[in-house]
Amino acid sequence: MKLKVKKGDTVKIIAGKDKGKQGKVLQVIPSAGKVVVEDINIIQRHTKPNQANPQGGIVEKPAPLAASNVMLICPGCNLPAKTGSTRDEQGAASRVCKRCQRTID
Ligand SMILES: [Zn+2]
Repeated sequence: MKLKVKKGDTVKIIAGKDKGKQGKVLQVIPSAGKVVVEDINIIQRHTKPNQANPQGGIVEKPAPLAASNVMLICPGCNLPAKTGSTRDEQGAASRVCKRCQRTID
C-alpha cells in the first residue's frame, strides 16, 4: 500500500475522535496503512517500573491510526492539500501541492 504521507509531515485529522486536529507524523507503517501522529489518538498504557520510568504507572502515547484518516497539510498554503507527483531531472518522484504547485518533498 502506498501512503501519501511521510515521517515529519504535518497532517490534519479528517476522521475519528481527533477529527480537526493537526499533528506531526512520527511514524509511517506502510504494511498496515497506518501512521502515528504526535498527540493524536492518545492511548494510556499501564507500565511496570523500568529504567526510563522508575515509578511505573500510566504512560500516554499516540497509537497508529489509518492513513486514510489524515490529510497532508501543504507547507506552502498551510491547508490540507491534494497532491500530485512530479519527477525531477534525476527521476526522483516528489509530491506537489495541486493548489499552490509547491513541491512538498
Ligand atoms: Zn499548497
